[in-house]
Amino acid sequence: MSESKPKPKPKKPRGVARLIEALCIACGARCQSVCPAKCIEMNDAGEPIIEDAKCVGCRKCVEICPVNALEMYFTPEELKILEELAASAVTVEKEIDPEAAALTRKLALYRDVWVFVEQTEGEPAKVSWELHGVGKELAAKLGVELCALIIGDNVEHLCREAFAYGASKAYLIDAPVFRNYRTKAYLEACCHLIEKYKPEIILMGATGMGRDLAGAVATKVATGLTADCTGLSIDDKRNLMQTRPAFGGNIMATIMCDKFRPQMSTVRPNVMHMPERKENIDGVIIREEFTVPEESILTKVIEIIRDSQSKSHVDIGGADFIVSGGRGMMAPENFAMLTELADELGGVVGASRSAVDAGWMPGDRQVGQTGKTVRPKIYVACGISGAIQHLVGMQDSDIIIAINRDRNAPIFEVATYGIVGDLFRVVPAITKRLREIRQGNPV
Ligand SMILES: Cc1cc2nc3c(=O)[nH]c(=O)nc-3n(C[C@H](O)[C@H](O)[C@H](O)COP(=O)(O)OP(=O)(O)OC[C@H]3O[C@@H](n4cnc5c(N)ncnc54)[C@H](O)[C@@H]3O)c2cc1C
Ligand code: SF4
Ligand code: SF4
Repeated sequence: MSESKPKPKPKKPRGVARLIEALCIACGARCQSVCPAKCIEMNDAGEPIIEDAKCVGCRKCVEICPVNALEMYFTPEELKILEELAASAVTVEKEIDPEAAALTRKLALYRDVWVFVEQTEGEPAKVSWELHGVGKELAAKLGVELCALIIGDNVEHLCREAFAYGASKAYLIDAPVFRNYRTKAYLEACCHLIEKYKPEIILMGATGMGRDLAGAVATKVATGLTADCTGLSIDDKRNLMQTRPAFGGNIMATIMCDKFRPQMSTVRPNVMHMPERKENIDGVIIREEFTVPEESILTKVIEIIRDSQSKSHVDIGGADFIVSGGRGMMAPENFAMLTELADELGGVVGASRSAVDAGWMPGDRQVGQTGKTVRPKIYVACGISGAIQHLVGMQDSDIIIAINRDRNAPIFEVATYGIVGDLFRVVPAITKRLREIRQGNPV
């Protein structure tokens, strides 16, 4: 009696990847970058061309595409096999991709959200506390701790400040060599802590110091860094979604660093809301005895000259009332009219980039993507069209008053109150009225 041989198990077809027409947004060749078979070329429009013969059907491109513009294609014969497999309830065990499993294990080693607390001579930068606000939200979504990263000399008091703004733990490196910010010293201190404690996310202010340090750290620990983020959130795979303007501010791009840790972002001052300060909150301080030999640092700080010490310095970033002028001001002398209105409001004068480029106002007054981000109680935009690069710097103001003679100017789309008219008549009229009210003539 002959034994009947078991029927060979049908092999599950893998298919080949295919682009779905008109869905690709040319995100920067993410699909190409993950293809292990090197079968994706990009055309001039930034869309993928897939060489079927080489495709091994690994689905990596399909999974990474942010807009689901790729799908797996199966021939009719392959579809038939798939149907048969389903009908005969053959369980095709999910193949374990060793590469993906190793990556998952590596990423799992990193936990917690860190915020670098920037300080100059022991005085913290406000942006660090703004980042505690968003950092706390991210930590809550991930179910981890918000930790402050504090480096300096005699800066233990900043740990308590960090707890007041939401951190539950502070990593502290406190030694004379860290008195003043110097890239090499701070870089080594940061990398030491990162290597030892492995944070999942690190946020830094997009200030001179933060930009310098974040770039150096990301390079040294070989991870990704997204600069000048305007939005931060977490996806369903614990990845940080970092949103920022791209292509000259014309689109908002969401950038992820899903294969490396820590995920690093910088955020400009005034972009995130300041969290509430809570008194008498305790936290854990982890003191690290780490130092860098002074002789190994080539940079020496001779003197610190603060912007705020210069007579002409005006901090538009921290102002409650801003009256800004654009190209519609026509000439530098006309800004005197805005100064008068700003004085009445107790505020300062800002400018669009066109006004700065024309030499009508200094660069530190520029509001927008390449200028400052502001969040005043009242922002008055005079003769500013409302280009997206200007809007990203002021659209979160509490009240926006726009004065423009073009009723279709985009600035009116974000304005709380819009005045269609000639600013040379409207601005002096508002100033005059405010003066009358101040002098006790409210009618
Ligand atoms: C990469 C990049 C970064 C940029 N960064 C910035 C930035 O940080 N900040 C920034 O501001 N821009 C920035 N820009 C420039 C931006 O695109 C615009 O060109 C600029 O904001 C326009 O300035 P504006 O509104 O003053 O001038 P315009 O666009 O020329 O607008 C002038 C407005 O004045 C109005 N007007 C004229 N006369 C009167 C009057 N008498 N009464 C009332 N209204 C009047 C006009 O109707 C018009 O709407 C950037 C551009 C790029 C490409
Ligand atoms: S399915 Fe895999 S092999 Fe095929 S194109 Fe996509 S990434 Fe490359
Ligand atoms: S990943 Fe998607 S959106 Fe990006 S280039 Fe490839 S197909 Fe286009």
